[in-house]
Amino acid sequence: MASNLNTRVYSPIRIKQTTLHKYFDTLPCYPINNSYVQDREHKLTKSSQNQYTYSIEPDNHIEIEQTHCLTCQTRLLKNGFNKRFVILDQNHGECTFFLHRKRCPNCGEIPFQIDQFAPKYGTYHENFKRRTRQLFMEGLIPSQIQRTFHIFYELWIPKSTIVTWINSITHELNQVLNHNIVPSSGYWAYDEIFLRINGKKVFLLVFLDIITNFVIKTKVVSHLNRGTGLEFIREAKRDKKLSIKTIIKDGGMMFGNLFSKCPYKKIKVQLCKVHLKWLMNRYIRKSVGMSVQSRKPLPEKCLPIRDQFYRIIDTTHETNKFAAIEALRITTNRLENKHLTRGFQRLEAQLPRLLNHLRDPNIPLTNNKLENKNQYLERNPSLKYHMKSFVGAQRVVNYRTFKNNLSNLLHNKIRLNHKYQRWRMMLKETPHTEGTCGQGRHFQAEFKKLERIKEIYLAFWQRYIAILGFGTKKRMLIPITNIR
Ligand SMILES: [Zn+2]
Repeated sequence: MASNLNTRVYSPIRIKQTTLHKYFDTLPCYPINNSYVQDREHKLTKSSQNQYTYSIEPDNHIEIEQTHCLTCQTRLLKNGFNKRFVILDQNHGECTFFLHRKRCPNCGEIPFQIDQFAPKYGTYHENFKRRTRQLFMEGLIPSQIQRTFHIFYELWIPKSTIVTWINSITHELNQVLNHNIVPSSGYWAYDEIFLRINGKKVFLLVFLDIITNFVIKTKVVSHLNRGTGLEFIREAKRDKKLSIKTIIKDGGMMFGNLFSKCPYKKIKVQLCKVHLKWLMNRYIRKSVGMSVQSRKPLPEKCLPIRDQFYRIIDTTHETNKFAAIEALRITTNRLENKHLTRGFQRLEAQLPRLLNHLRDPNIPLTNNKLENKNQYLERNPSLKYHMKSFVGAQRVVNYRTFKNNLSNLLHNKIRLNHKYQRWRMMLKETPHTEGTCGQGRHFQAEFKKLERIKEIYLAFWQRYIAILGFGTKKRMLIPITNIR
């Protein structure tokens, strides 16, 4: 380490009891771990053109295998050793490597590019970083990750180091999620999750595609108002590259009257049935003087009126829906209760938003899918109440979003392939027309889109998160989740 000019302190900081040697000459020297190299022969990566290959010799020397410069073909000269201390992966202990430097008389020093194996300004093997990020992605908090390493590798990595590793890819992760377009069907579910940052109430906005299951966009915001909503929609649409056909949402007032104004008029809004029932329940509770927060069941006398409200929400036929509305109008007029009237007026105003699903079978009745996905995004126990900054909260969600979208790619390919095969079968039975030709192109484009996004996500996964194997063997453990 003395060979490095900077005065960095390398962790772990060990205390050698060198003084004992003064008194006990028989004590062995501080042992250097050799087993790692003795057990098996390692060839370090780099096999592509114009890159040097390295080998580890039994005495922990790392040698550049080439004898001649790859640029000018001049014979390389040996140039002394550099010491590098590494904590090896998978409980192989600590190890000091000696990098045998080589120099080309014309081109100068040949740089050692083995940072993934023995990082320049760090002690831990690259895989520790990657394991940390994977564990964080699974929803573990830094102190749990620290314990995990302790249990598996008997290694106590400082918490600040773990946090640094997790945080170091924040920007890149943001770029991958925000600047790439995941395949979208145009059927989106919207929800807001309430969080606390430094004790202050903030909101996490989520757009999920309910057909393809990709999380389109997430954002942590401090206020819910129309401006924020508009900005969120614009960002989610990625400069108008994505279009929204339908939004399924709960009764939240975040967007105000946005969907009745151009150009958002075209978007169909479907209200979540469950939330609407819950909202109507509040009006009924108020009408009999009960507290809105009360967990007591509704009194018996309220049940008939509640059923009348529910019938409007539940009926699957348009005519029945109008009949139910008229029935409730008569009842509320007769009862003359201001809370019930207000509830009825609100429900009646929302009637078009209750009917959308009757005309499009792709629109679900409830927002349950997103509610489930929210639980998935909130897996990290710190997220809800213990985050300190917007960036931190967004990072936690981004890690989970990335995991969701990556594991979803395979499902989507299967789904698309299935659809394509069905179309091919149908094509055999019906005569070819111009329309069918267009459909073929549509499938081609869809496959291409999926392939493109897959490449981007996998490249990111490989670069920062995948556990590295040695040599040419690269392990690819991609998270696969069950289809809900
Ligand atoms: Zn050269």
